[in-house]
Order: sequence, then structure tokens, then C-alpha cells
Amino acid sequence: MPIRFTALPALFALLIASALPRAAHAEWYKRTDAIMGTRIYVELWDTSETHANECIDAVMADMRRIDDLMSHYKPESQLSKINQHAADAPVLVDKELFDLIKLSTHYSEITEGAFDITYASVGYLYNYPEHIRPTEDQIKAALPAVNWRNMKFNDADHSVFFEHKGMRIDLGGIGKGYAVDRGIEILQKRGIQHAVVTAGGDTRIIGDRMGRDWLVAIRHPDDPNKVVTRIPLSNAAMSTSGDYERYFDENGVRYHHIIDPHTGHSARKVRSATIIGPTATQTDGMSKTAFVLGPEKALEIINRMPEYDAVFVGPDGKMYWSNGLRPPAPRPEGTAPVAGQAPK
Ligand code: ADP
Ligand code: MG
Repeated sequence: MPIRFTALPALFALLIASALPRAAHAEWYKRTDAIMGTRIYVELWDTSETHANECIDAVMADMRRIDDLMSHYKPESQLSKINQHAADAPVLVDKELFDLIKLSTHYSEITEGAFDITYASVGYLYNYPEHIRPTEDQIKAALPAVNWRNMKFNDADHSVFFEHKGMRIDLGGIGKGYAVDRGIEILQKRGIQHAVVTAGGDTRIIGDRMGRDWLVAIRHPDDPNKVVTRIPLSNAAMSTSGDYERYFDENGVRYHHIIDPHTGHSARKVRSATIIGPTATQTDGMSKTAFVLGPEKALEIINRMPEYDAVFVGPDGKMYWSNGLRPPAPRPEGTAPVAGQAPK
């Protein structure tokens, strides 16, 4: 049948469309898993379901690898080998673990020991699910072993030595942030440009969500279903440390998992401390620090470091914000608006 002239443009359009490669259709792909004793969440924007799943598989596999290397719950992990033998002789470990342990001392240094992975020398005396806590005498006996300066590092053979008997370390305060950063690196190497990776209280975002920021919630300390605020984020990391994660209450006192290395007791200046910064390793390390130091002292430090911001929930529910997040002070009555500032 002859093709009528009027149908030709439509036919051409159809032919051209089928000759072109099919326009890529992108979607968000997500998965939740339980690794490192916590909830792992990966969400990414990709054009292929197969590729997206391979990317998520690779992130989850790397989280398991890091857990096997660094968990203090696993007696065969290299970290456990350090705890078992480093007070007798230097223990050789993989460069990756060596570097992270060494990096942790940077946070100890800039916070005068508020962050200290040797907190575990006392920390192991607490068992939250069993409601066990050390006596004052036990704390007093164990406390001299808490001192990051007693870890000695040999860069040549990646060995760690403890200069004090009874020392233990635990990377629970920085390992999840580190694992999140490795996960993001894996995704970036595979060409992913928009993603979020979360491990427990540590989240990092690359790109944005359809041209807008992600909104990352900070929960109410007493109610997991309530949110105290939402922080808009893109290309950034955020970590929250809270006294509601691992704890038990006894006679009105909360014993929880963030320990002040100077006292051996649970830190009590805040209910939660949130840090926003470039990478999750940094924000994870800094969130314990901020929790232990409390808002006044921590904000003094954070307001001097332009790469960080912070939000605290105080014991009475009062919120504290770093300068970068604080809304600008209202313009005093009768003064002219500053150039570039919208009139109120
Ligand atoms: P999450 O484990 O959900 O990421 P946090 O980032 O708040 O939670 O880390 C809490 C963990 O940090 C504790 O379980 C413990 O392993 C570790 N930790 C507690 N106190 C200190 C401290 N003063 N310095 C370094 N690490 C700490
Ligand atoms: Mg953390």
C-alpha cells in the first residue's frame, strides 16, 4: 500500500528513534544489610539494575572485610591480635589497620584525649545488654591503661606496641565512618555519582538527590520515631553519637557506650552530638569527641575548623549549633540591610 505523504514525518521520526541507542533510564536502587553489629544502608542512582546491584554487593563485601580485620568481637581479627599480644611484643598488622589506628591518634591529639581508642581498657568492663558496669575500684585500677600516647608505632613494619600492660583498643568509634568512606570510594570508582552510604550513625553522601539536598534526620534522644531536626546535605558526611544506642538505666542513671577516657564513666554533658564534615572517618571520630567534651568546649574547637559543623541535644533537650549552621542574627531595628542580604 502506498504511504500517504502526511504519514511520512511520523514514520521518519519512528525510524530515527529506533536507530538511536535507547535513552538511558536511571533509577534509585537501595539495600539494607546488618554488618559490623549495625544497620548498613546503600542507595544509589544508576542506569542499570545489574550494575547497581554489583556496586551494592561490592560495598557490602568490603564492610564484611573491614569487620573481619578490625572487630574486637572477633578473636581472630588483627585488632584482637593486637589486644592479645601488643603489650608483650610489637604486633605486625596490615597497613590499612595500622594507618587507621595511627589516624585515630590525630583525633586524640587535637582533643586532649577526649577521643581515645584505648578507652577500651576500661570500656570492656561494661556490658550493656547484661546491665554490667565496673565498680569505682575497678575503674581506678584500669584507668592508667587508658592513654593513647602509650601506643607505639613502627612505620617500617606496620607494627603496634603497647607500652602499658592491660591496654586494649577498640575502633568502634571510627571504624564505621572509615567503612562508609571506603564504600563511597568503591562506588565512585565504578562511576556512581549520586549515592548515600550509612553504617549505624555514620552517613556520607556523594552528589545530591535530583538537584536537591538530602535531608538527614537527627532523632529525638528519647523517641526513635521523633526527629529533632533535619540537616540538608550533599557531598558531605554526618555522624551522630547518642546515649540511646547502647545503654542501660540504673537508679535513674544512664550507663552508655560513649566513655570519657579521663574518668572511665559514660560521658554526660549531652544526649547526642552530630558532626557534619567532608568524610565519614572525620565526622565519626569527631562525634565522640564532641559528645565527651560537651557543647561549649566542642564548639570552641569546631568553630575554629571550617570543614566541620555541629549540632547538639543537651540533657534538657536544648539544641546547640555551630556558627556555620546558626541562622544569622536578626538585623537590628532601623538599620539598613547589608548588600546581598534579602530585606526582612
Ligand atoms: P556507632 O557505633 O553507632 O557509629 P558512635 O559513632 O557513637 O556509634 O560510636 C560509639 C562507639 O565509640 C562505642 O561503642 C565505642 O566503641 C567507641 N567509643 C566510646 N567512647 C570512646 C572514646 N572516648 N574514644 C573513642 N572511641 C570511643
Ligand atoms: Mg559512628
